[in-house]
Amino acid sequence: MGTYDYTFIPENDIDFVPTPDELKNLQKFLETVSPHLDAGVTEERKLFESGFLSEGITCPFCGAEVDGHWWSQAVTDSETDNQFADLDIVMPCCKKATTLDRLNYPWPIGFARFSVYISTAQAPDFDDDQAALLLPKIERRIGRKMKIIVEKY
Ligand SMILES: [Zn+2]
Repeated sequence: MGTYDYTFIPENDIDFVPTPDELKNLQKFLETVSPHLDAGVTEERKLFESGFLSEGITCPFCGAEVDGHWWSQAVTDSETDNQFADLDIVMPCCKKATTLDRLNYPWPIGFARFSVYISTAQAPDFDDDQAALLLPKIERRIGRKMKIIVEKY
């Protein structure tokens, strides 16, 4: 059994941050589920990904496989230039414009400032079923659709 990190982030809402009351309410609830669940907000926008990335990403328009080096460079550029404020890219395959978060990824990825995190390194009993059960409970408390990014290592 490897270690799994589960991160819950808002779906396609990079700058969403809960109000202090919502966050406090959520943290209180999370404590009742597991002392290892951690909800937090960062000043910086961050990329959350499964860690398997650079392979198997395809273009949403023409289906061509995206070169891993090109993708990594595009992510680095966006972070360096404007801290992920601008995710606009032009696909190298068919020259169509899109954004970094709208490619076809083999695993979920996302950009966010707000996240809820738990690792099986600290909570060995946490698993996919519990993550799926927890998701709507988090959504209800902050009024946003969330998605789960799982990283295994
Ligand atoms: Zn294309």
